[in-house]
Amino acid sequence: MLTLVINCGSSSVKYQVIETDTREKVADGMVERIGAVTSIVKHQVGSQKPTKKTLPIETHTMALKEIMDFLLDPNVGVLKSPGDIAAVGHRVVHGGETFKDSVLIDESVIEAIEHAFDLAPLHNPPNLKGIEAARQYLPDAVHVAVFDTAFHHSLPPEAYLYAIPNRLYRRYKIRKYGFHGTSHYYVSRRFYQLTGVNAHDSKLITCHLGNGCSITAIRDGHSMDTSMGFTPLSGLVMGTRCGDIDPSILFYLVEKEELPLNHLHAMLNRNSGLLGMSGYAADMRDLIQEAENGDRRCEQAIEAFCYRAKQYIGSYMATLDGCDGIVFTAGIGENAPIIRAKILKGLAGLGVELDAARNTNADGQREYRITTDASRIQAWVIPTNEELVIALDAAKIAAAAKQSPWV
Ligand code: ADP
Repeated sequence: MLTLVINCGSSSVKYQVIETDTREKVADGMVERIGAVTSIVKHQVGSQKPTKKTLPIETHTMALKEIMDFLLDPNVGVLKSPGDIAAVGHRVVHGGETFKDSVLIDESVIEAIEHAFDLAPLHNPPNLKGIEAARQYLPDAVHVAVFDTAFHHSLPPEAYLYAIPNRLYRRYKIRKYGFHGTSHYYVSRRFYQLTGVNAHDSKLITCHLGNGCSITAIRDGHSMDTSMGFTPLSGLVMGTRCGDIDPSILFYLVEKEELPLNHLHAMLNRNSGLLGMSGYAADMRDLIQEAENGDRRCEQAIEAFCYRAKQYIGSYMATLDGCDGIVFTAGIGENAPIIRAKILKGLAGLGVELDAARNTNADGQREYRITTDASRIQAWVIPTNEELVIALDAAKIAAAAKQSPWV
C-alpha cells in the first residue's frame, strides 16, 4: 500500500512515500523555513539526485501543496493522481493519556490532539496543521495519527507519578509521558529479530541519542520506564535541553536574576544541554572536534553527557532486574563510537564487554553488534526508522478501515 508519512514541525514539514508491502522508501523530502522570506523545498526519488526549489511558503497548507506538486510532477513525481496514496500517517508528539495506540483520525481525535496543546505547545499545534492540510489535499486517503507517547503507555504508576500532591495528577494530568516512542519501539523490534532474543521474555535498554535524547527500559516488549517526562525536557543532557536538574535552581534564578518565566523556559530548552555547558555548540561533532583541540568546557560537556547516560542505563538495569541488550540509535548513538565507548566504559562488572574494533566499525549505515561474543549483555547499533513504523501503522489501520462496513 502506498503510504505518505508526514512529520510537521513549527517551521518544517518532512515527508516520505513508502510502499508498505515491500517496505521500500519511494520518495522523501522536506520543506524548511516555513514563514521565512525564502523557504526551501527538497524532494528526492529513491537514491536519485535531489530536486530543490526556493520560494516563499507562508503556511503548512502551502507547504503541503508544494509537496503534492512534486509528488505529482511528470518528471520527478512518483504519483499519477492523489488517489494513489491510500493512507497518510501523521506523527503526533503528544497523545496525552488518551492514546495507547495509533488511531484513525476523526473529529474526536482532532479534539483530543487539540486538548493536548497545553502539554506540547511547540509540537502538537504544527502536527495538527499538517493533518488539516493533508486532509484537504488527500481527501480520499485514510489519515492515521501515530503518537510519540503511545509506546510508553505501559509505564506503571510508580514510574509515571511524580512525588507532588496527587490532586495535581488528577486535575492536570501532570505525570511522566515519555517521548521518542516510535523510535524505541522500532529498534527494540529489530533487536529481537536480529538476536533471536524472545521479545516476551526479555530485558532491553534502548538509547535514542540525537538532538533530543532519551533512554527506555523495555521488559517483555513493553516500555517500563523512560528518561523524558511530562515534557521532552527531562532526563539526559541533550543538544540544547538541560535534562534533569534540581527544580530549586529555578526559584533561585528567579530571585537572583529576576528572570521572567519565558526566559527561563528558553534557557532550559534552547540554551542549556551541550550548548549551554560548552558555550560553544550543540552539535556533538563540533564538540568532539574542539575537545580534541583541548577545549576543556567542550570536554566537560561530553563527559557529563556520557555520565548521565551511563547512570540511566545502570538505573534501568535495576528497574528490569538485569539486561539482555543495550541498543544505540539516532544521530549520536548511530555515528559516534567515542561516545558509545565512554558510556559503556566501566560497565564490565555489570556484564557489558565492548569490542573496540566492532564499535569503531559500526558506522550508522548498518545494524551492528558492538560487544564481544563473550559479553553477557549484547550492545548493538541499530539505525532508527520512525517513518517505517508510522507507515506500517497507517497501512494496517487503513486496511482495517477499508474492510469495516462502518467507515
Ligand atoms: P534529531 O533529534 O534532530 O533527529 P539526529 O538524530 O539527527 O537529531 O542527531 C543529531 C545529533 O547527531 C547531533 O548532535 C550531531 O552532531 C550528531 N551526529 C551526527 N553524526 C555524527 C557523527 N558522525 N559523530 C558524532 N555525532 C554525530
